[in-house]
Amino acid sequence: MKKLETIEQLKKSIIELKHENKSIGFVPTMGFLHEGHLSLIKKARENHDIVVLSIFVNPLQFGPNEDFERYPRDIHRDEQLALESGVDVLFAPTLKEMYPHSPSIKMKAISRVDVLCGKKREGHFDGVVTVLTKLFHLVQPDAAYFGQKDAQQVAVVEALVKDLNFPLQIISVPTVREENGLAKSSRNVYLTNSEKQEAPQLYRSLQYGVQAIENGERDPFAIVQMISTYLNEHTSGEVDYIEVYSYPSLEAVNVLQGNIIIAIAVQFQSARLIDNIIIEI
Ligand code: AMP
Repeated sequence: MKKLETIEQLKKSIIELKHENKSIGFVPTMGFLHEGHLSLIKKARENHDIVVLSIFVNPLQFGPNEDFERYPRDIHRDEQLALESGVDVLFAPTLKEMYPHSPSIKMKAISRVDVLCGKKREGHFDGVVTVLTKLFHLVQPDAAYFGQKDAQQVAVVEALVKDLNFPLQIISVPTVREENGLAKSSRNVYLTNSEKQEAPQLYRSLQYGVQAIENGERDPFAIVQMISTYLNEHTSGEVDYIEVYSYPSLEAVNVLQGNIIIAIAVQFQSARLIDNIIIEI
């Protein structure tokens, strides 16, 4: 595995790989790797000659009161995990390398961003699409891999690639969970011991909603109400949102039909956890 820290080194490597006609699968991450990230790498490994993994904690996608500074980082452990999972190129640039001066151009995501995480995290998806535009240009992948855990991100990135004609495929990979159902996340390390006991209730509340749909409920408001009651009874965290939309367009629906996402966010003391389920009705 090559570990590269500069854009020049990456460009050189990509030119060589393109000359050799290698197919490239790209997994962009912010590091502190866990099995969720590894499942993306595994999928890319299955589909491509070369797997490029990027690790970059992107300040543009953090709000002023968010956890950019304290976001967990462990590049040595990540490097080892990347090597063990068959990554060919690890791109881990510094902040200065990615943003050497204040930007002259900024990307702006317009649709699919005024709901769910986008509503409170103003500018978050602008930061995501900006860094991905840079990374997609640099890595020139045939496909990029994203986790369904961040389903809104997948929807926004699909729109980015479609609207701006990036010549690559976006592949969404199912959420990897702990045995108790908790979605794996780098931010789970922020949870206190008692919050760790409660956090699996997020997924259970979603399953509870799905069960109601399977039993015939078609009113999105009824599902939101049920999940709200469930979460308030089962966690000490503050519910940030419980929302039900069509997916991937993320539009409100009056009747549950077609592809539907139920998504929630719960704020614990020092961690804001998100989860979702997408179902076809
Ligand atoms: P992050 O490092 O949090 O930016 O995540 C990098 C990629 O890993 C994103 O596409 C995430 O959606 C994906 N990811 C994070 N957690 C999981 C998970 N539990 N299961 C599947 N993919 C995940």
